[in-house]
Amino acid sequence: MLETLSARLQAIAARLRGQARLTDADLDAALREVRLALLEADVHFRVVKTFVARIRERAIGSAVLDGVRPGHQVVKLVHEELVDILGGERHALRLGPGPAVVLLVGLQGSGKTTSSAKLAVRLRRDGHRPLLVAADVYRPAAVEQLVRLGQQVGIEVVTGPTGTPPAAIADAGLAAARGGGADVVIVDTAGRQHMDQPMMAELEGLVSALQPAESLLVLDAMTGQEAVRVAETFHATLPITGLILTKMDGDARGGAALSIRTVTGVPIAYLGTGEGMDALEAFHPDRLAQRILGMGDIVTLVERAQEGMDREEAERAAQRILESRFSLEDFRSQLQQVKRMGPIGQLLEMVPGAAGLAGAAQAAVDDGELRRVGAIIDSMTPTERREPHLIKAARRRRIATGSGTSVAHVNRLLRQFEEMQKLVRQLGSGGSRPGQAPRLPGR
Ligand code: GDP
Ligand code: MG
Repeated sequence: MLETLSARLQAIAARLRGQARLTDADLDAALREVRLALLEADVHFRVVKTFVARIRERAIGSAVLDGVRPGHQVVKLVHEELVDILGGERHALRLGPGPAVVLLVGLQGSGKTTSSAKLAVRLRRDGHRPLLVAADVYRPAAVEQLVRLGQQVGIEVVTGPTGTPPAAIADAGLAAARGGGADVVIVDTAGRQHMDQPMMAELEGLVSALQPAESLLVLDAMTGQEAVRVAETFHATLPITGLILTKMDGDARGGAALSIRTVTGVPIAYLGTGEGMDALEAFHPDRLAQRILGMGDIVTLVERAQEGMDREEAERAAQRILESRFSLEDFRSQLQQVKRMGPIGQLLEMVPGAAGLAGAAQAAVDDGELRRVGAIIDSMTPTERREPHLIKAARRRRIATGSGTSVAHVNRLLRQFEEMQKLVRQLGSGGSRPGQAPRLPGR
């Protein structure tokens, strides 16, 4: 998520932290770079301007530059201001006594139908009993899509014959909820390619008929500033209560997300991070800011771990990622465990300082690769697994032959493992001793 922006801000932060003194000119130079990085990530220029001005003002006003570790202080200011533009507090849905209606609106292709089903899964995990309503009545394929997703996740979907007015289907959904004990009714609506009057009129009608507890606007984060404009236009007509930003797993232009709250005043509620049904994250401004600055997001990481496996196993896995003890033997079992937690690239972005490894690690857990890694490690002696530095050319050839792979594969595995170890050592040096988990940010 936001890899390019994160990498640039993390480089600036690392340099700032390394400087014992910080002059006015140093600060200006650093802030100029921050400004450029944000603009290139498609953060709205007005937001960038205020952001940089506030950091400068606070740095100078609080005599940060003359204090101890001025670079750390400036990074802290950047973090605080990032949290601020992202909305400060988490926006939790206000569902009230059931059945509460949650209306999902947005342009075609933004991810409404997918997000409806993901949201149902998430709310069920939070202890609710959700029900889905297919109110995108114009395209039978749209209804079919939601029905299929509902079957996949085991959540009831209420539909009507093609041509039924959306409000009538939603009413049927409410009746079904009352009858069946569901407390949240998630309504998936029709979108158009562009904003137009008939669509807005239909949505206004739905809002006044249903009085939704939440009206969530679904936005495709990959469309950059266009998403900001769409949000402004929708919000001018409809009482939007929250945003779902989808496709945050793509890097391109996701920076628009950073400005959307400040520009529209509407809080971000969730982030879509993939096509799978569990790829919807509750949005926490502080956690995303930490992730962007490479301070990690251990809380989300552990939550994800708990969702993917049993609690004890989850804690062990999270601990292993953070610990400096690391052999080739648990490299493999860890790849398998972590794989169940979701895309490993996304997981590594949450580990302090590890975002840069996300791409390589993702490649390492693709199915074919995982099998190959298993075969290679099986062909090693126990000593070799514990002390891979012993594995020189002759041993590499033996292992390649034994595992039915090639020396290039063995080399790659050893290189990946070495990088992993290097990362773990780096983590250990971020204020804690090797062998210890690094200091966890915040909270
Ligand atoms: P709708 O027209 O607004 O209902 O959009 P859909 O829910 O049908 O989604 C359009 C496409 O975007 C589908 O192929 C989804 O799988 C994909 N999609 C939705 N959310 C995400 C996301 O968070 N990440 C990725 N990578 N794809 C997504
Ligand atoms: Mg749809």
